[in-house]
Order: sequence, then C-alpha cells, then structure tokens
Amino acid sequence: MPKYETIIGLEIHLQLKTKSKMFCSCSNDGENQPPNTTICPVCLGHPGTLPTVNEEAVKQGLSLALALHCQINQQSKFDRKNYFYPDLPKGYQISQFDVPLAHDGYLIIKTDHQKKRIRLERVHLEEDAAKNIHQGNKTLVDFNRGGTPLAEIVTRPDFDQPTEAKQFLQQLRLIARYLGVSDADMEKGQLRCDANISLRPQGDQKLYPKTEIKNLNSFKAVEKALEFERQRQEKLWEQKKPPQLTSTRGWDENRGETVEQRTKESFADYRYFPEPDLPPLVIKESLINQAQSLMPELPLEREERFIKEYGLLPPDAEVLIKQKNWADYYEAVMSDFRAWLFKANGLSEVSEQAAQLWQKHKAFLAKLAVNWITTEVFRLISKDFKWNDFKITAENMAEFLSLIYQKKINSSAAQTILKQMFASGDDPSNIAEKLDLAQIDDVSTLEDLATKVIMMHPDQAKQYRSGKEALIKFFVGKLMQESKGRANPLAAEEILRKKIK
Ligand SMILES: [Zn+2]
Repeated sequence: MPKYETIIGLEIHLQLKTKSKMFCSCSNDGENQPPNTTICPVCLGHPGTLPTVNEEAVKQGLSLALALHCQINQQSKFDRKNYFYPDLPKGYQISQFDVPLAHDGYLIIKTDHQKKRIRLERVHLEEDAAKNIHQGNKTLVDFNRGGTPLAEIVTRPDFDQPTEAKQFLQQLRLIARYLGVSDADMEKGQLRCDANISLRPQGDQKLYPKTEIKNLNSFKAVEKALEFERQRQEKLWEQKKPPQLTSTRGWDENRGETVEQRTKESFADYRYFPEPDLPPLVIKESLINQAQSLMPELPLEREERFIKEYGLLPPDAEVLIKQKNWADYYEAVMSDFRAWLFKANGLSEVSEQAAQLWQKHKAFLAKLAVNWITTEVFRLISKDFKWNDFKITAENMAEFLSLIYQKKINSSAAQTILKQMFASGDDPSNIAEKLDLAQIDDVSTLEDLATKVIMMHPDQAKQYRSGKEALIKFFVGKLMQESKGRANPLAAEEILRKKIK
C-alpha cells in the first residue's frame, strides 16, 4: 500500500450547444465567426441592458443534471460573481452561487473493468467570459465567446488516481454527446477542467490544503498534470514540508510540469450577491417530466444492453458505444441483417420459428458484424473522417455481411469489395459482379479446374494415389491459384479428392 493517499476533485465547464447565448439572443456560434461579430449590448455589458434567461440552455442543463442523477432545485437563483478582468466587460459574471440548478448526483466510471461511483456536488448554469488572445506583447479580446451558456459540474473529491479523472471526463463527454447538449471537445475548449489535488498519509481522515491545476486542455494533460502534481506533493510530504496553503498552478505542456500561479481567491473575494435583474429560476415538475421522457439511452446502459441483447463481448460493446453514430449504425446493420436472415429462410418477422432462428444465429452474426465494422471499416477511416462522408449504408453493410455469411465471397474478395463500398457507396453484389469476385461454387466449373490442375501435376497425383494424402492441400492451393482465389475451397477439395482417384 502506498504511504500517501491521493485525493482528487474536478471542476468542469461544459459549453452548451444552444442556438443563442445564455442571456441574450446573439448567436452561440461565435467560435466559427470573425472576432467580435456575435455580440450585442447585453453580452458586452452596456449600462441599462437587461439579461433574459435562455430557456433552451435551462433545458439542456436540466437534462444533463438528470443524466448525472442529480437532485433538481425547483427554485434556484442567479448570482453575480464579481471580478475584474479584460475578458469580462460587465465586471461580473452571472453564475449560480448558493442555490444551484442541481445537486448531489453521481456518474459511474469504469477503471480496470471495475465500476466506481463518483459523487457530484452540484451542476449549475452560468455564462462564459470572452476570450483573450495573446499576440506578442499585445492582448486582444474576442467577445464572441462572452455570454456562451456553460454548465459547471463540481465533483466530490472521490478520485484517488489521475487515470480515474481522465476516465470521468471521457465518460462525461460521451454523455454530453449522447444528450446532444455539447460536443464537449476539450481541444476546442468546449469542455474545460480544473483539477484539485491533495495528499494525506494513509489512514489520516483530514483534508489538507489542495492545489488547483488550471489550463488542462486535453484528457492526456489532465492525467499527466495530476501525476506530476502527485509526485511533487509526495516529495514535499517526504521532506516534512507539505503544502500549507491552497494554491493554483498552471500546467506547462512543453515542460511537462505544473507551475505556481497565484494564491486562489476565496469565495469572499468574489463578493457574490443575487443578480437583481433576473427572477428566480423556476423548474416546473412538468419540465422535469418532459426532460426525463426525452432522455436517450445513455452510454453505459447501452453498453450493457449490447452485451445482453446481442451477446457481444464487453470490449466489443465498449468500442461501439464510444461513438454514438457507430452504435446507431451497428444497430441498424443488425436490424437489416436480421430481416435478411428471415427473408432468406422464408420466415415472417413475427413467427415463432423466426424468433428461434434469430436466437440460434444472433451471437454469431453480431460478432461477424462487430468484427467487420470495428476492424476493417475502422481501418479505412482516416483521421479527419466526418460521419456525413461515410457512404456505406446499413442496408449495404448487412448485404455485404450476408455474402460473407453465405460464403458467397471469400475473405480476400470481401476486403476488396469493402474498400470499393467505402469509396463509392455502391452495393456489394454489384461490386462483386463487376469485379468478378463472387465465389465459384458451380460444380462443373470446379470440376474443370480440378481436371486441369491434376493434369498439370501428374507426379503429385501419382504420389497422392499411393497414399500421400497430405498432398491434397497442394492441389487445393493450385486450384485456388488457377481460379484467382475465387473457388470455394471446401467444395474444391471434395471435388479434387474424387477426381484424383
Ligand atoms: Zn449578445
């Protein structure tokens, strides 16, 4: 057991994907627009302007809070958080202080195939600040981002490993994407994280002054910075000089270390007070019910269902659910594949026999589909792949798999066909026909091929007849060569055995 226990908590800001900003009607697409074009007197903090709450942002925040199993405060309020900085034209940020939108939730993460529940202290709504752009010795301010709706999520200090913090953020990103409330791309600043870390001797129950690490803009940075900080603090403890004050450090990606920034303001420094220009935020029961009813199946539930419903192995299910588009695609392929199976067997979808047939073949077909999608299709995908460019429809994919399943194409032909499908979106039977790739099952064609290879190798044929049975593989190989890989190898072997005798 290590000498010290690591205690980590996270504070996360998630940009919500609404059409307009949190308290005005400016477009929330500022990051894709020229600087200082998606702005108005409200988000620039001109005197005399009044904020109004964006209902869509409230709905998105609510659905996030519910997905994170939070208790909803049916009446919360907005507060002003006062501080001075060039990116904050009003001189304060509208946030939620003592009564947040939601509190006491949790999120389940998986570490080393074990599940761990991370408790959440709160989820609240606020507006983003503008963006400072440093150019040489000048700093420019782009106000487009100012007023973007944010959900802030604060965890309890439940992580004891840096890798758990990374897992949590990845899981949160996935949930945000499933809910459609944010793309949660850390590189684009849509998901931002500050991490608190402190150490204590094993068995000690006290919490010691923590260090807050800022400027973590990738999952890897979160893990690396926390690991660096854990080791730094451990050395201090070893020297009997543990941190005495709460401090803030920035992550320096290039140097791979955290750097002291400043001592953090306490809540008192922000002089929070209730926002006088906004009424309390009231969440009606009906709105909660509506959000519950619109809740999609969440990633972890979906993973469990894939394992149960299709008999997938957990790692296969995990790969699929990691991207909602692929999980949806997989289900569509399986549904078409199932319809094909019934049709091929002349069964109606609802019959008892159809159900039995599906039970019998399901696991095998599910595995076949997951293998082709997550290995062969994924291999064809480049780094800058966009889902909308993907040309293989679920129907064509199901047809392709049925050709493999019926052994109408062998595996090398399948690779060729898949590449063409990926490039052109053409249907697999067409491609197989065009490229002359369909497997040769026809008995008379196979017999002709067999006769030919036997005549070409009379010595081996004689040896075979005198008992050297292993030579059959030699003839199958020659026949496959002769057919350019298209002959059905099992049928060819059977015919060859008869012909040589
Ligand atoms: Zn505005």
